[in-house]
Amino acid sequence: MEFFIQIRDFIVKDVENANETKRASVIMRSFSLILCIFSLIQSICMAVFREWGGAAVSVVALVCYAVMFYYTYRNRTRTALLCIILSTLFWVILFVILFGGNCGIQHFLLALLVLLLLVSHADTRHKVLMALGMCAVSLCLYWYTQMSPPVREPGRAALIVIQTLSTVGVFFAISAIILLFGQDSLLREKKLVAYNEKLRETSSRDPLTKLYNRRAMLEYLGRQAEKVERYGSWFDVAIGDIDFFKKVNDTYGHEAGDAVLVRVAGLLSEYMSDKGEVCRWGGEEFLLVFTDINGEEALVRLEELRTMIGQQEIAYKEKKIRITMTFGLDEYDNKKPIDDTIRSADQKLYIGKKSGRNRVVF
Ligand code: GH3
Ligand code: MG
Ligand code: MG
Repeated sequence: MEFFIQIRDFIVKDVENANETKRASVIMRSFSLILCIFSLIQSICMAVFREWGGAAVSVVALVCYAVMFYYTYRNRTRTALLCIILSTLFWVILFVILFGGNCGIQHFLLALLVLLLLVSHADTRHKVLMALGMCAVSLCLYWYTQMSPPVREPGRAALIVIQTLSTVGVFFAISAIILLFGQDSLLREKKLVAYNEKLRETSSRDPLTKLYNRRAMLEYLGRQAEKVERYGSWFDVAIGDIDFFKKVNDTYGHEAGDAVLVRVAGLLSEYMSDKGEVCRWGGEEFLLVFTDINGEEALVRLEELRTMIGQQEIAYKEKKIRITMTFGLDEYDNKKPIDDTIRSADQKLYIGKKSGRNRVVF
């Protein structure tokens, strides 16, 4: 197991050149490795059958693929690809001339075409030309084998071995190329989805309190308004503002003010978790949405929340800070735009401030 992991790590090792893609190299390495193994087995079999010509071609192919495997580690991905094309064409053509079309070696041209189409950076026009070129080579080989007998007529046993080896080799090579290509795309897609999700999350959260920001809240309110339109449900909007917050900053410092904001955000978010949503609307203002309850019920909840906040002792270093909040509340009316409800809640908050703070105005 350890051995296979080491081989895998060796194959998937990143290229040193930042301008070259890892995927192309990994696919080429796998292709070269499979063909190295294939050529090695083939050369042994050829030697067993005393087909010295075939054995020699296989050994040359083995050396070529080993060199190409090495090239992909030396920032020579393009060179390696060119060598793979040339040597594969070379030994396939030689083999078919030697042993005829029955050996099945010509199918390696298909594997080569798949490799070229997936790995090469050429544009579509050039790729179509490559496919046509490969098709032409295949046809020429076929016509050649139909017109001229093979140089060596392999025995039945040798032919079975060559056919079996080439079938397995072609299947392995094509599967490896496509699997590696697809796996990388899937991995990148997964990474992209996760990254988008993270981006969406950070762009919709306030960095200090981690609550929804104004933009995310407006989207949420839009969805709630749609729900009212579709299902006839309702919701309420409240804006809460910390009383004399400037004094907190002036007395204890800006850092203490931040700590208070974080603590208040925590309290609001915990309280609202099963009632709707809350966001940081601005500096020390929070917007709360109560879903599926009417204004009267929301007023009861807000009074409870206001009392709870007023009783909190917020610890900052060795100090204990107490604050109160004023809220303006309004029920959403689906005959008016959502902005009207927000504006109305804001005006009621203003009235609450004017009439002494630490209260809920509905
Ligand atoms: P009121 O009862 O009328 O709301 O009085 P207030 O002092 O709370 O209102 P004012 O709008 O005068 O002051 C708000 C202060 O909140 C001013 C600003 O410095 C402070 N503030 C806004 N954002 C932050 C923040 O992120 N951190 C800290 N520490 N202070 C903030
Ligand atoms: Mg304030
Ligand atoms: Mg304010």
